[in-house]
Amino acid sequence: MGTLIKGASLLGRQPADVYVEDGVIREIGSVTSSAETTVDADGLVLLPGLVDLHTHLREPGREDAETVLTGSQAGAAGGYTALLAMANTDPVTDTAEAAERVFDLGRATGLVDVVPVGAVTKGLAGAELAELGLMHRSRARVNVFSDDGRCVGDARVMRRALEYVKAFGGVISQHSQDPALAGPAACCHEGPLSGELGLPGWPGVAEEVIVARDVMLARHTGSRVHVAHVSTAGSIEVIRWAKAQAARDGHWDVTAEVTPHHLLLTTDLLAGYDPVYKVNPPLRPAEDVEALRLALADGTIDAVATDHAPHARHDKEHAFVDAAFGMLGLETALSVVATVMVEQGLLDWAGVARVMSSAPATIAGLEGHGRPLAVGEPANLVLLDPTASYVVDRDASYSLSRNNPWHERKLSGQVKGTFLRGKQTFGA
Ligand SMILES: [Zn+2]
Repeated sequence: MGTLIKGASLLGRQPADVYVEDGVIREIGSVTSSAETTVDADGLVLLPGLVDLHTHLREPGREDAETVLTGSQAGAAGGYTALLAMANTDPVTDTAEAAERVFDLGRATGLVDVVPVGAVTKGLAGAELAELGLMHRSRARVNVFSDDGRCVGDARVMRRALEYVKAFGGVISQHSQDPALAGPAACCHEGPLSGELGLPGWPGVAEEVIVARDVMLARHTGSRVHVAHVSTAGSIEVIRWAKAQAARDGHWDVTAEVTPHHLLLTTDLLAGYDPVYKVNPPLRPAEDVEALRLALADGTIDAVATDHAPHARHDKEHAFVDAAFGMLGLETALSVVATVMVEQGLLDWAGVARVMSSAPATIAGLEGHGRPLAVGEPANLVLLDPTASYVVDRDASYSLSRNNPWHERKLSGQVKGTFLRGKQTFGA
């Protein structure tokens, strides 16, 4: 006896009944099985469960900001069924043992599949490669490696990492930011406004030179690089060129993600010195935001990833220059994408499923996620109301942190239910 999801519009297309039993989609269309639970999904859209390539869960080390459990609750509320947990915890996820610990904490929640991202270098120090092969062969099956929060700045180290992961089909997710061009004090986009505000900025080119370097290294090594949180039009030009080369060559690849905040928020929000808008890479001018939306629509950018970065109040509520970088994103990502991409006619719901579920699952090599809505597939699903709009309240959140840049903003498209292998993890 399973669950009947009644009358949902699959990928925003034809309404159908979906019958789920033992974690698998058993029937679609006119369902003949009798269900234990019926979910009335009239007027709702059904998508495959979302996959986030870029989440900071803060456990171990900063359980005051987020834990694997609270981050997983926030993820389920946002429609996610899998989260890739970044390695910049304390201790860093740079060994098989550390990766298995995060993986097991995720399994224990039963809310989302938590997949650890392994560090590229020991202690994120940028010098010596971490246990990449051992992490991959561990129970946690690590496929994605990143020193996120820091750039792998040394080209020789990046080259060796790309060569290493090639052997098992892994990918290096790079936080593209030349440390020499983005000084240690930099805290916002370098432009006329940073000058007016007297804030040290870093230029878009600090990102673009690393993207350019890394695609050449990926081509040279025949490996895969993933550009985390792309934020400038210049990076998009490089990625567009590189994708064309990779498609022609066939033996290497480049993929890219964009965050919800870089799709909507612009650098002029910094005029009030509110540290909630302090993020790395920084919010950019409107021209970059427009270019990111178009690149996501045309496939130059493969995926939306949240860069959900919870911070305790005492780390975030400071003078702008001293505050921590980062903002929350898991619970609002789908609504931001609905607001800026679907409402604007840039993506339909099948396109949203591509950029928030199937493409990220493919990039991360995740089995059982990002699959088509079809009989025999795992029932990892999200139901959303495409016509609902709501005002975000930062206090109505599963996250332990409150650094929410969407507070008091009106967004469209609301998650109504999330299912992990048929089990409802969010919604009534
Ligand atoms: Zn980053």
